[in-house]
Amino acid sequence: KAKSEGRSAFHFFEAGMDADLQKRRVIEQGLRLAISRDELRLVFQPLVGLEENRVTCFEALLRWDHAEMGTVSPAEFIPIAEETGLIVQIGEWVLRQACRTAATWPADVRVAVNLSPIQFKNRKLGELVRAVLAETGLPATRLELEITESLLLADNEQTLQTLHSLRALGVRISMDDFGTGYSSLSYLRSFPFDKIKIDRSFMADLDSKGDSLAIIKAVIGLGHSLGMSTTAEGVETEEQLQAVRDQGCNEVQGFLFSPPIGADAVHALLHREAARANQVRKAS
Ligand code: C2E
Ligand code: MG
Ligand code: MG
Ligand code: MG
Repeated sequence: KAKSEGRSAFHFFEAGMDADLQKRRVIEQGLRLAISRDELRLVFQPLVGLEENRVTCFEALLRWDHAEMGTVSPAEFIPIAEETGLIVQIGEWVLRQACRTAATWPADVRVAVNLSPIQFKNRKLGELVRAVLAETGLPATRLELEITESLLLADNEQTLQTLHSLRALGVRISMDDFGTGYSSLSYLRSFPFDKIKIDRSFMADLDSKGDSLAIIKAVIGLGHSLGMSTTAEGVETEEQLQAVRDQGCNEVQGFLFSPPIGADAVHALLHREAARANQVRKAS
């Protein structure tokens, strides 16, 4: 009796087992099946170029709709996917899906895809990116890869080689969440990133006093002197927009402009933008 019960889905909810641990198990088990069950989807959040005054890029963000748990946050399931290695398969799905979708957008709009450091352990990452670009027809120059700081990146020859080979394809490399890790600055020295994305915690602190403005100003200056473009994440208010614009920030992303939206809504947004650009052209 005990044996057959042990194999049912309910064996995760063993009496006395910590609730967090139980949830973790359910997530881990569910993730293994998420792709085949078609439970993953991408949403896209616009990045607005302040010089161009238009949407220049969309960041692809992963969503998981689970039958019982509802929509699970990536903050919750990505770490588990990384620990179990499932991120490799999931990351490949994200990359392919993002490039396929972006290939239907206008030629001056890029897509940004988040990569986990675990994906760099796989020597074939460069080949995978090249194959997905070929298969989807998306030009390499329209793909940005976002990487967060992590120990794995530190002075790792193989990772650096992979980054250089991706760059050689024409792909852009962005440093995500800049300023949150303890070695942000040394990463800038180890690889010539194309873009620095300033973590949204600095934006959130802007309104309260503090030194966030000084830090944002310094990071933008640093980026520019290193020939890197700068993006402010988490821009939610006009005041924050004005502050980063005044400092010469190149690009903004945040709820002020738009939350992440579905692929259909992206097409609608791009149509509205094209209509607006046309009107501006006619008027001038
Ligand atoms: P991230 O790459 O830094 O993505 C930005 C996150 O900030 C997104 O959360 C986005 O919804 C949120 N955000 C954007 N604008 C605002 C704003 O104005 N205010 C606030 N409060 N939040 C804003 P999301 O979608 O929950 O993703 C969380 C993190 O999960 C991402 O942070 C990224 O590190 C990771 N992630 C998401 N999708 C993927 C993926 O496909 N692969 C990997 N490896 N990681 C992913
Ligand atoms: Mg990102
Ligand atoms: Mg980010
Ligand atoms: Mg973040």
